[in-house]
Amino acid sequence: EEIVLPTFLQSFITRFTGLPGVQITLDIQIQNDRLESYPDTLKTIFSNLLDNAIKYTTTAEKPVLLQVREDQQQYTFYIIDKGIGIDKHHLPYIFDKFYRVPQGNIHEVKGHGLGLSQVRKLVERLNGSIQAESTPGKGTTFTIQLKKS
Ligand code: ATP
Ligand code: MG
Repeated sequence: EEIVLPTFLQSFITRFTGLPGVQITLDIQIQNDRLESYPDTLKTIFSNLLDNAIKYTTTAEKPVLLQVREDQQQYTFYIIDKGIGIDKHHLPYIFDKFYRVPQGNIHEVKGHGLGLSQVRKLVERLNGSIQAESTPGKGTTFTIQLKKS
């Protein structure tokens, strides 16, 4: 069956899929008026998470899975990478403004530590929630829950 992407993803997803080694698998098919009324907010949220998933995967192949699960009340989005991961001691702070994990990436991977703080603020503005789970050396999964109405 053909995947119908929500319009907030359609606008920018090809920008990422064109990058070297990047392989984005989309398992997303939703139709929701509330979400479609915040295209810019959702675009900022998902492009920041995809940007991270790709830049913190330092191997040649950079597979990212974008998935959504739906129940009666909400959507749960998963952004799953197989990148460098985040040590559990740092995980609680990654959404803080200017926080960057000191080892592994701060010199090699450019950034300001602002993306995730903005993402969290926007998700909360939509009355949603965001969490991260990670295994160093294996990868990271960000989970976003958004109410349907
Ligand atoms: P910016 O997004 O402002 O360009 P940044 O990517 O460093 O810079 P955030 O997006 O806020 O900042 O992420 C904060 C830190 O969390 C990152 O510096 C990195 O250490 C860690 N991080 C975020 N996403 C991932 C990921 N998918 N895999 C591994 N580490 C991550
Ligand atoms: Mg970032």
